[in-house]
Amino acid sequence: MTRTRVGIVGAGPAGLMLSHLLSLNGIDSVVVDHRSRREIENTVRAGILEADSARLLVDSGVSDRVLHDGHPHEGIDLRFGGESHRVDFRALVGEPVWLYPQTDVFVDLANARERDHGDVRFGVSDTSVDVTGPAIRFVDADGHRQEVRCDLLVGADGSRSICRAEVPEALRRHSSREYPFAWFGIITEAPRSAPELVYAHSPRGFALISQRTETHQRMYFQCSPDADPARWSDDRIWEELQARVAGPDGFVLKEGPITEKTVLRFRSFVAEPLRHGSLLLAGDAAHTVPPTGAKGLNLALADVRVLSELVERALLKKDSDALDGYGPRALDRVWKAQHFSYWMTTMLHALPGASAFDVQRQLGELRSVVGSEAGSRFLAEGYTGSWGQSRGSRPR
Ligand SMILES: Cc1cc2nc3c(=O)[nH]c(=O)nc-3n(C[C@H](O)[C@H](O)[C@H](O)COP(=O)(O)OP(=O)(O)OC[C@H]3O[C@@H](n4cnc5c(N)ncnc54)[C@H](O)[C@@H]3O)c2cc1C
Repeated sequence: MTRTRVGIVGAGPAGLMLSHLLSLNGIDSVVVDHRSRREIENTVRAGILEADSARLLVDSGVSDRVLHDGHPHEGIDLRFGGESHRVDFRALVGEPVWLYPQTDVFVDLANARERDHGDVRFGVSDTSVDVTGPAIRFVDADGHRQEVRCDLLVGADGSRSICRAEVPEALRRHSSREYPFAWFGIITEAPRSAPELVYAHSPRGFALISQRTETHQRMYFQCSPDADPARWSDDRIWEELQARVAGPDGFVLKEGPITEKTVLRFRSFVAEPLRHGSLLLAGDAAHTVPPTGAKGLNLALADVRVLSELVERALLKKDSDALDGYGPRALDRVWKAQHFSYWMTTMLHALPGASAFDVQRQLGELRSVVGSEAGSRFLAEGYTGSWGQSRGSRPR
């Protein structure tokens, strides 16, 4: 049996960052995760950090590696009608986003926890939580039963959260939106095809030309949710991707061997309330967004920034009402990000059964976004997560 102040289920970005921020204020925590460190390190997921997320890593002392190994992206290309239109984040909101893989964020956070002697238990099994205790019970990596008793319990256990289920059904409000498409994702060993990310609308459906490193690139194209990667040869994938970005400007993707193929299903989801007694939910355990807006990882970090501040007030300053503020403060950002991700998704994807009117309306919407400063600024604010901060221009 271990006694700690905050028990955290999930050593993803939300769980590890929370544990790190709490430790800066001298608050002990124990983090448990049923995956091994190596498994998490090798799971390719997000790649875009808002400037505030990058600053949080640096300023809180996790690591400044993002500044050396990450790449600032000052905009994106919106591509439709076979032409690219740049949305310039620097000019519109004074902030870039950073290309820095989630795997690197995880490595930085896990190293920082190790450096600071944080208690993180990877590779556990049979996790269960007791919200009245409160406590986390599990079998550790060596097969021993363990119990962590705590003052507060945080569910940072991702989109299939077991903690979320502890909020009584009568009190839960789950809001969700399913989409009739998925993303076919590949990693290819090839140089970059464009300096920044390309979001392409085409009659064949959406494509995203993303990046990972100098030598490996991430690309996605809209597919049916039941697409089977085994049925897609490399030639067929390249043909589809090239067709979705083709245009009179002659833009062509740089091809290479495909080293990974996956089908990524997604939905929009918010679980409310974020707090039930001593249980608090953060990150994907509380909400998920379609990947189109690159918000998921950023929201996870934004949640725990708020939560760490309120936990400190509750536990150190004995402010018993402090945690009541968590839901309202976190959800304000969550719902803005939900709207942005939904908007980007529905603006760029081919909707099954769409009429000629629907397609022309989408193109009209895209032209409005790139053709007016107000439209481009709306996109730039959402993408960089600088909602409400860009009146005038932010300092460079
Ligand atoms: C392909 C893909 C691309 C994405 N691209 C972007 C992007 O560009 N930008 C962006 O911001 N977001 C992106 N996201 C979303 C982002 O990856 C997630 O939002 C982010 O990982 C959320 O962090 P988290 O800590 O809340 O949850 P997770 O990272 O899911 O971590 C939860 C942890 O809890 C552990 N866990 C779960 N259940 C238990 C249990 N019962 N017991 C113990 N441990 C448990 C899991 O092993 C996991 O390590 C993408 C996601 C995917 C899948």
